[in-house]
Amino acid sequence: MTAFWWERDAKPKLGIACRSLPEIKTYAPMPEFDTLELSIAGLAKNGFELYSIDRNEKYSPHLKNAEILKNILGGKPYQVHMPYEGNYLLPGERKFFHARRDDHKALTSRQRVVAEIFRITGNKGICVWHLAALKVKKQKIATLENAYEIASILYSELDTCVLLEKWPTQITFENYLAPKEDYEILGYEPEHFWKLLGKTKRIGITIDTGHGNLAPEDFHFQMLMGTGFPVCSVHFHGNSGKFDPKSWKDDEHVFATKDNIRGYNRWISLFKRSGLPVILEINKEKYKPEEIQDYTRKLRFELAI
Ligand SMILES: [Zn+2]
Repeated sequence: MTAFWWERDAKPKLGIACRSLPEIKTYAPMPEFDTLELSIAGLAKNGFELYSIDRNEKYSPHLKNAEILKNILGGKPYQVHMPYEGNYLLPGERKFFHARRDDHKALTSRQRVVAEIFRITGNKGICVWHLAALKVKKQKIATLENAYEIASILYSELDTCVLLEKWPTQITFENYLAPKEDYEILGYEPEHFWKLLGKTKRIGITIDTGHGNLAPEDFHFQMLMGTGFPVCSVHFHGNSGKFDPKSWKDDEHVFATKDNIRGYNRWISLFKRSGLPVILEINKEKYKPEEIQDYTRKLRFELAI
């Protein structure tokens, strides 16, 4: 029987983003982390591919690597960051765009294979996507109207597949930074979520506190949460909040503190009450594993877990 919401275990789950197999090996056994977030693009760039693509643009799971992953995780739950648009990944893979109807089949095939990997590893999990890109590396991909019209079809199809094909996944989309000179990815206005995902029934959102710092001034998380989509996960990290349209260095991915994210105390009390997975999406080149462990212990104390 489904538990009433007040009977549910509302303990937050702390997690850390991993971009390579050695990182998974380091963080999966640590008791400080209840969960991990795996970046598919990061893993592939570091030689650990979770799937391959054939000439007909159909994806297949990398069964051997899925088994390796299952053994390292030892039952620890995980979520996945889907590759974002314009990122070359695998031999034979071209750039797929949400706002191009011809690319939808491949994008759906890729998500289907990720669902298959969750099945093989014996988990259910969240898959985090970015919303459609309008511009990638200065190349125009679509107008806003195009994206609203075409990408929303993809999202509705994914939403249907989750139900009909019983994918063990919760698909979510995360908020993003204001447009850069060379890139524009939607998700920096609550309206983007409403216009693109308004027809879906099961898709949720992932809140990214660092990206929120670098979104246009009038972007407020209350507005995003007020769109009615379930919040499924949080990427918890900070930055100086000074948006730079010419560079990506502003998206610093450093430890969230009272000084570098707005409403720090409110986030903590939200985490305490919600049971949400809170992913430390930090740039690990900036910290030693001991520093990460230390920060996480203090955060766990603050969250009383
Ligand atoms: Zn994020």
